[in-house]
Amino acid sequence: MSLPAKAAPRVFSGMQPTGNLHLGNYLGAMVRWVEMQNSHDCIFCVVDMHAITAAWQDPVDLKNQTRAVTAAYIAAGIDPKRSILFNQSQVPEHAELAWIFNCVARLGWLNRMTQFKEKAGKDRENASVGLYAYPNLMAADILAYRATHVPVGEDQKQHLELARDIAQKFNHDYAESLAAAGFPDGFFPLPEPVIMGPATRVMSLRDGTKKMSKSEPSDLSRINMTDDADTIAKKIQKAKTDPEPLPSEEAGLASRPEADNLVGIYAALDGTTKAKVLQQHGGAQFSTFKKALVELAVSHIGPVNAEMSRLLGDPAEIDRILGEGARRAKAIAGPIVDQVKDIVGFLRS
Ligand code: ATP
Ligand code: MG
Repeated sequence: MSLPAKAAPRVFSGMQPTGNLHLGNYLGAMVRWVEMQNSHDCIFCVVDMHAITAAWQDPVDLKNQTRAVTAAYIAAGIDPKRSILFNQSQVPEHAELAWIFNCVARLGWLNRMTQFKEKAGKDRENASVGLYAYPNLMAADILAYRATHVPVGEDQKQHLELARDIAQKFNHDYAESLAAAGFPDGFFPLPEPVIMGPATRVMSLRDGTKKMSKSEPSDLSRINMTDDADTIAKKIQKAKTDPEPLPSEEAGLASRPEADNLVGIYAALDGTTKAKVLQQHGGAQFSTFKKALVELAVSHIGPVNAEMSRLLGDPAEIDRILGEGARRAKAIAGPIVDQVKDIVGFLRS
């Protein structure tokens, strides 16, 4: 069976309000989002339903974090007039479609997900069912809009592959019903990950083998988009490194994860490549390179941080933007999920 090749291009992506956004979220995903607004219809979501899957979230904090992440999106350059910007829980179609996908995805597929293994750790029996089913909800987030492109960091690649498997199995399982409903080529597009740039996997500042994360307990492991200049300087100065000076060529970063990470961050902030950064800084000691990196990071994060604080001064306006975005999102997802219900055989009267 051929798949709906002519699906109109549409971008969907989201972040969890599990804590402060950090440089990894910004460089790995958000920079791409801002660019893609120029070429695509974009839908950006604050995925609050995902945020309660791993650890219990204080309800007051969760609301405030949802507002803070929204402010960070806007401060980084997401235009809520041009793009659709909303929080997931205000559009119930995500949860409805996720249930159907719970019945499409196979246990064996979910058992392979490395994010679940990492987040559940050794105490798997005590992990929430929601953490396990997270990738099905993520597939629903994307496919409720029949989105075709998903700009994310490298860590989400496996979940995107699962979303494609779910779309394909749905198209296959309901082929007859789809043909009768006028979709002989399948209903869902196979969404493509957009993983690009020199910092698709920003690593922890304390351990170059672990990714930078919002949910990592040590705040020194990440640079938050809300950190002030002194905090950014302190964290970069304390960042783990090795004793060698920087190499002059990229190959010299191969077995040096911490050096590779700092050079990658520099390149992404400067809009260049690691090779070019090393042309300029090769042979330098980390003490010198870190000073240049602090300056660059502060010059990028400072203005975003200031704009975020300004926006957070008016929480009612942020809530209004999210409400308006949710109405626009529902206008797209509502008819799509209604069609899915018809295809699956749920009566609607
Ligand atoms: P959590 O620890 O709660 O999972 P997180 O830091 O992983 O938080 P998410 O909200 O899960 O952030 O992810 C939001 C987006 O940021 C996704 O597109 C994800 O791929 C991207 N991302 C997260 N961490 C990194 C990183 N270290 N480097 C590059 N991209 C990242
Ligand atoms: Mg994550």
